[in-house]
Amino acid sequence: MFSTKLLRWFRKAKRPLPWRTEPRDPYRTWISEVMLQQTRVDVVIPYYQRFLNRFPTLQSLARAPLDDVLALWSGLGYYRRARNLHKAARAAQNGLPATAHELRALPGFGPYTAAAVASLAHNEDVALVDGNVARVLARVFRLEGDARAKSWKIAEELLPRGHAGEFNEALMELGATVCTPRAPNCTNCTIRMSCLGRDTPERFPEPKKRPDRPLLEWKAVALRRRDGAILLARRPPDSLFAGMWDLPMSDPGARLPKWPGVRVRGRLEDRGVVAQTLTHREVRVAIRAGHASGAPKTDSLKWVAPNDLHQLGLSSLARKSLRKAGIAC
Ligand code: SF4
Repeated sequence: MFSTKLLRWFRKAKRPLPWRTEPRDPYRTWISEVMLQQTRVDVVIPYYQRFLNRFPTLQSLARAPLDDVLALWSGLGYYRRARNLHKAARAAQNGLPATAHELRALPGFGPYTAAAVASLAHNEDVALVDGNVARVLARVFRLEGDARAKSWKIAEELLPRGHAGEFNEALMELGATVCTPRAPNCTNCTIRMSCLGRDTPERFPEPKKRPDRPLLEWKAVALRRRDGAILLARRPPDSLFAGMWDLPMSDPGARLPKWPGVRVRGRLEDRGVVAQTLTHREVRVAIRAGHASGAPKTDSLKWVAPNDLHQLGLSSLARKSLRKAGIAC
């Protein structure tokens, strides 16, 4: 009854999103699902369209340099997703496997992404739980404690065999459009009569205690060459924003380093501080600006003309830092 009503509602109410064209293509489904993690649909749509224009196939993504992938991901955040997409595309150049079990062997494919691609694109009978599904099920079954962990088992039990893709997407759609975090529209909800939490929906799921976010304080310097080019540095592997480009920086709390081959001319001026709240950290970057010349003696530093900044993977924080230094990007 629950699933029949939900499916009937979904067939009428689903939003015509660009990744929902039939027949579902596994590659496009994968890209959309990865982009949608932690990110709103309206933010994802233009990124998705640009990404698919540039990398229409798995093979084109696999052949591309990582820098091109990061450039198209710039501003979307959670850059590990882009690095893993690229790694997985290279690992599966002959095509994505069809089952959730096989997909799990690829970089970046956790239980959610594997189940999403297998069920939405191949209709494999596998359940999935994301934030939307966990919220709906926490309310329908008044789940106490860790709703997300409990929801996996419930989602598997509810799954109508043979309609897994549609059912999974319907639960996510209900969470995104009706059973929203605040002010859920219970009056018009198709599964209202099955829902134990309909009178006090906002009590579920119980809020998680967020750990304190440590503060990272960085110092960055915006150095410009006489022709206007800006010195940028690639973030080291295993660092925050690994592989992205940014202003050259010091380690948290340390003095600015020297850069072999680069000569700083004159004094550096303070340009203020930019701040960004990330999921697990607060970052503050004190910006100084000045002039320099010379040729960097490492591949992790390069001069970039302002007009070429759009070709690089820059985080939102890097863009803020550049703007603070007076560089449009
Ligand atoms: S009745 Fe309300 S709380 Fe229950 S699933 Fe529907 S929108 Fe969510």
